[in-house]
Amino acid sequence: MQKLIVGNLKMNLLSPQDRDRYLAWMDKELKSRKLKNSEIVLCPPFVHLEAFRKWNNKKVKLGAQNVFPEEKGSYTGEISPVMLKNLGCEYVIIGHSERRRYFSESGHEINLKLISALKNGLKPILCVGESQVEKDNYETMKVITKQVKDALANVKRAKAEQINIAYEPIWAVGSDIVPAANEIMEARLLIRKILVEMFGKKYAEMVRILYGGSVSPVFAKQTCIDPGMDGALIGRESLVPHGFIKTAEIINNN
Ligand code: PEP
Repeated sequence: MQKLIVGNLKMNLLSPQDRDRYLAWMDKELKSRKLKNSEIVLCPPFVHLEAFRKWNNKKVKLGAQNVFPEEKGSYTGEISPVMLKNLGCEYVIIGHSERRRYFSESGHEINLKLISALKNGLKPILCVGESQVEKDNYETMKVITKQVKDALANVKRAKAEQINIAYEPIWAVGSDIVPAANEIMEARLLIRKILVEMFGKKYAEMVRILYGGSVSPVFAKQTCIDPGMDGALIGRESLVPHGFIKTAEIINNN
């Protein structure tokens, strides 16, 4: 199974000039690198998807940061999975903690998005993870279990191969504080166990389980390699092509 290394560019690259500078730098970083064991995915803001597609770097796949469950119609301001697919997206991030927090996305909404993404040929990268308060209250396992079960309700196991789950403890996102390797491994094993219960062992093993939260070259070993993760979801460091590709190389080579 190839590693999956995803850059979530969030609400950055504020102008076409910023975007073009970023893509030129990314090109330079990718040129000399062999990342044969990995899929590299970049998820820019919606307004840059077209330009990223035209950039057409063969080493990078395209993903979106969010999707609306409906395919078309009167949903002002929303983006449909059909639009994303037609723009060349292969992946879509669903249920990021920032969307759960700032846009009150519920488990049910996340489930609808995930089912619609799969139906329309997009591969979901589902984010799950506990807050600092939940961690302090020893609720990590409970939170992860509920988020995974809610998101994957009514999902057919035949779709398992398309699904990716990123364990992203909220307290580690954007903080430069990362969990110990054994904490991440525990989360990975729990997620796999839930998947086995829902899909059976054979299909459960097809789902890639990533880590996200302050991943950088410094923390790549502790957060992704030592706990045996299938890849990484990377926020801030993905804005720095040198650091992003260096992180990808560390994960790819281990
Ligand atoms: C994220 O927001 O998904 C993320 C992992 O951010 P960062 O790498 O900046 O912690």
